[in-house]
Amino acid sequence: MTWTPCLACGAAKGAALVACRSCGVQPGDVTDRARHLVAAELPEAAREALARAVVAGEEVALDPAEVSAMEAALADASGPRVAAFALAVLGAPVLAIVGGLALLAAGLLSL
Ligand SMILES: [Zn+2]
Repeated sequence: MTWTPCLACGAAKGAALVACRSCGVQPGDVTDRARHLVAAELPEAAREALARAVVAGEEVALDPAEVSAMEAALADASGPRVAAFALAVLGAPVLAIVGGLALLAAGLLSL
């Protein structure tokens, strides 16, 4: 079972983007999410060292290139995904309304 260090308190979390059970912090903005995702990809020993550094209050050393690459991936993914989600949520009622209007129009035309 893999784990990710919480970059706020150093506790182990089950997944990079969930709220920490120890301190309650959930990665919020793109940079924060990118840092947690990069941390999650590290080898076990590096994750342990990272967790120890957070607990000790030291500067958390993550590869800035990896973090910015992850930021870019997150920024790319969020736009289309949000649009797809909005379509999935809003599409059904809109189709129902359009379908209802079409039926109404057909009914009126047949009078
Ligand atoms: Zn935490």
